[in-house]
Amino acid sequence: MPESIPVADDALLDREATLAMFTALTPDGLFDVARLANSLREARHGRRATFVDNLHVNPSNICVRACKFCDFAALPGEAHGYSLSEDGIFKTIETQQPTEVHIVGGLNYEWGYERSLGLVAELRRRFPGLHIKSFTAVEMHWFARIAKLELEEVLTAFVEAGMDGMPGGGAELFSERVREAHFKHKLGADEWLEVHERAHALGIPTNATMLYGFGESLAERIEHLFRLRELQARSGGFVSFIPLAMQYGVDSTRAIAPLENLAMVAMSRLVLDNFPHIKAYWPMIGTQTAATALGWGADDLDGTLGLEKIAHAAGAATPKQLAADEMRRLIETAGYEAIERDGAYRPVARARAA
Ligand code: SF4
Repeated sequence: MPESIPVADDALLDREATLAMFTALTPDGLFDVARLANSLREARHGRRATFVDNLHVNPSNICVRACKFCDFAALPGEAHGYSLSEDGIFKTIETQQPTEVHIVGGLNYEWGYERSLGLVAELRRRFPGLHIKSFTAVEMHWFARIAKLELEEVLTAFVEAGMDGMPGGGAELFSERVREAHFKHKLGADEWLEVHERAHALGIPTNATMLYGFGESLAERIEHLFRLRELQARSGGFVSFIPLAMQYGVDSTRAIAPLENLAMVAMSRLVLDNFPHIKAYWPMIGTQTAATALGWGADDLDGTLGLEKIAHAAGAATPKQLAADEMRRLIETAGYEAIERDGAYRPVARARAA
């Protein structure tokens, strides 16, 4: 594990208290919630805020599922499907020299288990110091199925190939009602949680996410957070939680308001008091809201993100990439000490650009 964390026996809030707190929010109450979340954030991280110089690698968007909310994927044979070559991925890493890669893609038979494992092994061989965060629970579960292997065999093979941890994507929202309406062929909540629990049992650190904005109830969002909290209390393997705001592209009438995004960050910090880190994911909430979220419970702005495709395919209007100096400036103008970190949250020393 990159960091040992105290695992609280009891949550600061239970489901009912969280629902009551966020249902009855007045404007003043909202800022009280922010202050409480910020006090928890400052107790853990002081005035430090981190970011990572990372590269999102999405090897292919071709996917055999067709989740209704997903603007990234293409079904096999569709014109906008793409598949990157390994050489192209290596060249981009050589050029950009990130400290971390975040690899996720569609469920594409051309990028099946052996090839994906080979990519990780070759990345480790070529870039020994690179932090490799690879493949969501959905992909790991699918690799095991198509390769007819036990999940533990797949996860162990990726660790032996050089994987350092797993990203938190694919969780979407743990409500079965929402899954039935929007992504009914995708891995369900129980299976997603089980993949992470089994990864944690093998010592693999992972992240967790929640995609909100389907039209779900407040109680459904809260239930999602508590299920993560309960798994963390058993396994202790989650490093970071990332609330992800649904993107509505050009339909700005449906965009989630900045205050709602900030309230989600605060709720995450309050409920997930056994998670070391809460991220404000700037591609989905915008750079200014993300910087503001540092005072609402978030302690990390994720990364520079070169080549990110998923949020931007869904219509995110944010830049496709931020330079490390821009990340620092964003954090410092929000009043925090900016610290560049590696994939295991260790500080990275790097000279500033002139
Ligand atoms: S959300 Fe994931 S599983 Fe669903 S279509 Fe998109 S890439 Fe495929």
